Amino acid sequence: MEINNKIIDIYTVKKQELITPHYLRITFHIPESLVEQLKSVKEGSNNKLFIPSQGTHNIHLPNEEKSSSVEESIEQVRTYTNRKIDLFNRELKIDFVLHEDYGPASSWASKAKPGDKLKVAMKQGIKPLVPKYDRYILIGDYTALPVISCILEQLPDGVKAEVLLEVYGAKDEIPLLSKTETQIRWLHNPHPEKGSYLASISKTLLRDKKENETYIYIAAEYETVNKLRDYLKNRLMWDSVNYAAVSYWTTTESSLAN
Ligand SMILES: Cc1cc2nc3c(=O)[nH]c(=O)nc-3n(C[C@H](O)[C@H](O)[C@H](O)COP(=O)(O)OP(=O)(O)OC[C@H]3O[C@@H](n4cnc5c(N)ncnc54)[C@H](O)[C@@H]3O)c2cc1C
Repeated sequence: MEINNKIIDIYTVKKQELITPHYLRITFHIPESLVEQLKSVKEGSNNKLFIPSQGTHNIHLPNEEKSSSVEESIEQVRTYTNRKIDLFNRELKIDFVLHEDYGPASSWASKAKPGDKLKVAMKQGIKPLVPKYDRYILIGDYTALPVISCILEQLPDGVKAEVLLEVYGAKDEIPLLSKTETQIRWLHNPHPEKGSYLASISKTLLRDKKENETYIYIAAEYETVNKLRDYLKNRLMWDSVNYAAVSYWTTTESSLAN
């Protein structure tokens, strides 16, 4: 169903696979009735997952009538990335970081099995994930690996991309495909919830870049994003059209990222 330009539907889990020690990929089956609508959703765009309370199997779309006998699910909403929308094989893939402090989303993913259902809302829109530039710097932590993978896959031949990615360890590095000339640097941080050097290392990469020539995309933990946004805006005095800095999660309980 469509509400306010969003496609909201219930997807069935087809497969759960551990792609690295800290990444769990869930493959969902896309119902045939959604194929046409999903042509207007971009890979790498974000979604809203409605995580049902544990043990709940009755999941409803907003206008569906519920019988009074079914248990009411209290949903927790979390934001994730549509890592792959494969309309030919009718599969949607979402990669979940298995972080230390399990929350409803990571915990749901870790227990998901074929046949489980999840309500997902996706935004319609086929705008490129990043504007057209000749050079890019893509900075992210492990939660941004899905979106940065999609950006790299979608960038055209002939542009250059420098990528700085922080993951837990060497075994969490995954191959990134791109037609661009790409330089990738991996950082390892086994305890991201205790802090990160991503912001300070990124600053050394950013300081000699020329505004208007390079587009900067940053997605990571709230503090890291704040420091880098402040650096670009107040130290390098860049116009915000040349960068995007998005907070993906927070170390505090309040979950500012969502
Ligand atoms: C646009 C967007 C796209 C995103 N895409 C993805 C994606 O594709 N894959 C993905 O894994 N995440 C993604 N995230 C991040 C994800 O939404 C958050 O990590 C979310 O808080 C996880 O929900 P949860 O229910 O597991 O934990 P929550 O209930 O939100 O948090 C529970 C506890 O875990 C801590 N916590 C939450 N996330 C992390 C983390 N990553 N590392 C360490 N501690 C954490 C919190 O501080 C809290 O203490 C995205 C976020 C945004 C805004």
